[in-house]
Amino acid sequence: MRVLVYGSGQLAQMMYLAGCPLGIDVQAVDVNSDTIVHPVNKTLLESNLELAIESADALTVEFEHVPERLLEQAAKTSKLMPSIEAILVGADRVREKRLLDRLSVPNCLYQIVSDIEQLDECVAKLGDKLIIKASRDGYDGYGQWRMTDIAQLDELKKALSALDLNAVPLVVEKMLQFDRELSLIGVRGKKGEIKIYPLTENLHHQGQLHVSVAPALDISPALQSEAENIFTTLAEGMEYIGVLAVEMFQCGNTLLVNELAPRVHNSGHWTLSGSDTSQFENHLRAVAGLPLGDTVAKQPSAMVNIIGCCSFSRDLLSIPGCHLHWYGKSVRDKRKMGHINVTADSYISLGEKLEQLAQYLP
Ligand code: ADP
Ligand code: MG
Repeated sequence: MRVLVYGSGQLAQMMYLAGCPLGIDVQAVDVNSDTIVHPVNKTLLESNLELAIESADALTVEFEHVPERLLEQAAKTSKLMPSIEAILVGADRVREKRLLDRLSVPNCLYQIVSDIEQLDECVAKLGDKLIIKASRDGYDGYGQWRMTDIAQLDELKKALSALDLNAVPLVVEKMLQFDRELSLIGVRGKKGEIKIYPLTENLHHQGQLHVSVAPALDISPALQSEAENIFTTLAEGMEYIGVLAVEMFQCGNTLLVNELAPRVHNSGHWTLSGSDTSQFENHLRAVAGLPLGDTVAKQPSAMVNIIGCCSFSRDLLSIPGCHLHWYGKSVRDKRKMGHINVTADSYISLGEKLEQLAQYLP
């Protein structure tokens, strides 16, 4: 069994590692050179992409911004999971909003802007606190602008007028005062079976995920089940196969969907330590047509991203229940270099371990 993953970053690497014990060979497509590389050491495995596609049993993605010509080529084979439509929803905020509205999934109030002068209308409809998102190619807070005061409007218009908004419109959202950010990760198999992990709480800094805690604290059964209904509506609505991540904002007892990721997700890395079956294994099981694994959380877990640095003492591994996952990338500012998973018997103990961990990290 061979699975070809478009993208050769850490998510492909972790899918590869999950595939080893299952006897599933995961290979990565380097989308810059159209070649096949080893997902861990990145050595060249095959330079003919067509041949590799032919010999693969399943095709999948580790990121949504795969060039469309490659997705179209992959979609022709009927081996691509999730579907090209689902991947494009994740890559394009306008498509994403259309899908959420079509399936009546609650999301943030928004306007689509393809002419910069429409920003005035946005202010009239959404208020003067806005978050402006490029509809394509944004991630980790890149491709976003914030307006917190009407006095910034002219300057923003000036900055944004350099963009080709006909080609890439903006999605302008009302800036929400949410209680916290949650995500729900689940998996749907080829026969339509669904397994869902518990809600995860995510802490962001400058638009980038830093820490996840799972299961999120103080989640009522009603809220978990509301989140699961949203997941099921989306996964069934897209006839989705594989792991799907749904980012949400919690406002009181309400959940608003922020965005979808048609793939394994950073806020699901805790499943490597904290759940019976990791998101990576479940994604492979789904695209391989195998039974899905249990998604219960075995114990409270946290995931801490290591961002933009590689110099810290590996002695942090002396903290019980602490595991390092290093991606082997060259260091760059704001780049996710690795993550640490921590598990504990209780949330109090988890908090103590996180405090200990903080002493090792810059
Ligand atoms: P990406 O993760 O692709 O960069 P997001 O849409 O998830 O883009 O935005 C990044 C972060 O910005 C979110 O995790 C959240 O912290 C903040 N954010 C996004 N949309 C809103 C909004 N409408 N109101 C308030 N904060 C927001
Ligand atoms: Mg996001």
